[in-house]
Parts: sequence; C-alpha cells; structure tokens
Amino acid sequence: MSRNSRTYDFPPYRPPNEAFSALIRVTRGCPWNKCEFCSMYKQIKFEIKPYEKVKSDVKMARQLYRRAKSIFLGDSDNLLHKEMPKIVAFIRKTFLEANRITTYARAKTILRQKMEFLSDAHKAGLDRLHLGLESGDAEVLKQLRKGVNPEEMIEAGLRAKKTGFEVSLYIISGAGGNERWQAHALASARVINQIKPDIIRLRTLTLQHGTPLKEKLVKGEFNIISPLERLKEVKLLLENLDLKDCYLASDHLTNYLWADNNVFYRGVAGSLPHDKEEMLKILQQAIEFVESTELRIKDSNQLYEEGFISSL
Ligand code: SF4
Repeated sequence: MSRNSRTYDFPPYRPPNEAFSALIRVTRGCPWNKCEFCSMYKQIKFEIKPYEKVKSDVKMARQLYRRAKSIFLGDSDNLLHKEMPKIVAFIRKTFLEANRITTYARAKTILRQKMEFLSDAHKAGLDRLHLGLESGDAEVLKQLRKGVNPEEMIEAGLRAKKTGFEVSLYIISGAGGNERWQAHALASARVINQIKPDIIRLRTLTLQHGTPLKEKLVKGEFNIISPLERLKEVKLLLENLDLKDCYLASDHLTNYLWADNNVFYRGVAGSLPHDKEEMLKILQQAIEFVESTELRIKDSNQLYEEGFISSL
C-alpha cells in the first residue's frame, strides 16, 4: 500500500519516554544522514511533508489516539519545516488534552532558523526539543561525522533555551572509543554545563551492522571501550557536571550491564545536583564489582552481537 493511501504514517523512531505519546510525522528521514554511528534513517530519502498531508495525518491521529497526554513529532529535523508553527497550532487545536508536544531537532537547523520562527513554533505549543549532542569533544564529533562542532552545539542549545524550549540533550557513552573516553567525558561536561539543559539522556554507543563506525571497528580503525571504562567515563562526566536544575536519565536498554546473563547495572538517573552523590555511589559500586568479579561482563554491544538485542 502506498504511503499516500490512508495508511497512517508512523515515525519509525521516538524517545523511550514518548512510548505512550501520540506519534505524528511532520518530515520523513534525516537531511544529514551521515552520522557514522546512526542507522536510523539510512533507507529513507528526506522529505518535508506538505502541510495538508500533515493536517490529514493529525486528523487520523485524532481517531487513533482517543486520549493523548503528550505528542511526539517525527522525524529527525522538523524545524526545517517552514510551516511548523502552523502545524503545532493545528495539533494543539486538535488535541486539547495534550500537556506536551516534543520533537527531535538538529543543532544546525536551530542555528539556521530565525529566532522569530523558533519563538513562533514555541508559542504555538511546541514545548521540548530532543537534541543529539552525542559528545562535547571536537575530535569525537568529527570522528562521528556529526556535522557540527561543540561551539555550534552550545550556541544552538542556548538559542533553544532562550526561545523557551525545554532541552533534552543526548550523550553517547563510549563515543570517544578507548582512546578519547576521558576527553569525551570532560568536554561533554563542559558543553552541557554551558547549555544547562533540562534533561540529559545517556545512551551507550552500540555499533549496528551497516553503520560506517561498525565497518571501522571491523577494520581496527575504532575501538569500543570496555564496560569498566564506560562506567569510569560516566562517573567522570557526572563528577564534572555543574548544573542547578537538570534531570539525568539513562532511559535506554543500552545503558544496562550484564554479569553473565543477569543485569547488575541499569544506568544512573536522578535530579542534579540533588542526587549526584547517590549516582556517583552507584557508579563506584558498579566499578568495584566489575573490577572484582570473575563473571563475564557484557554491555549492549555483546548483547547485540549475540542477537539478544535486535533493534535500537
Ligand atoms: S544521528 Fe540524527 S543527525 Fe545524525 S544521521 Fe542520525 S538522525 Fe541524522
């Protein structure tokens, strides 16, 4: 069935905390699509959906979601859609019960758009931007082919905050490989401290088949950090965060660690600065466990290779 038929056009990806949100697709794919670790939209040609098509999807979503407390808009770069304020306003009018509308956003697009446009989208009812920082280290960003440098990330984050958006920043644990994990942790903390996001979401670099970074791994041009280094990296990041009001989430399966087949670490989560000491304690305990156990410690990369995790 073609996607122009009445089949509902679901966004293929959404953050885990949007699992119960109404999902509406404003664009399709990613206009950049070059990040070396990302497999999300590789098969999709980027497309900005016409306003009338989005509107008709919103009406269909209204029938599908009888009650939607929150709404997530896909795909990766919706602020490129010049009718975003109008789209958000229409969604607000259609879903009067929704408390929150959120979307993924790209730093380059936030920088490219006028403040007036961003503000119109926010005033229309777009509350939160999910922004992939991945790393605050210039070298790592280059290695990941993120297409943006740390200073641009800071500027984009500050612009989003100044507009009034809640900012949810994604960091990839392990993004620096075993050569730059310390630099990655310290530089990421520096960038995060400047942006002062509302939420930080940790993910673990899990190299999937078909991604350029996986090919580099196979050729020996990139090395995944060990679970022990990863715990130390997250601890170093956390120690260097200096935030007054932020929530750190590890809301993804990739943050887990297994001893043989039992999960012994589920990532750290809590409010900053309030829960910082408690989270550091959890990390220290996990580090000591890994250093002393004879059990085989696995992370999401081993689980992916063994076929226990299929899609991320
Ligand atoms: S990580 Fe984001 S910006 Fe990079 S290719 Fe994937 S969707 Fe596009």
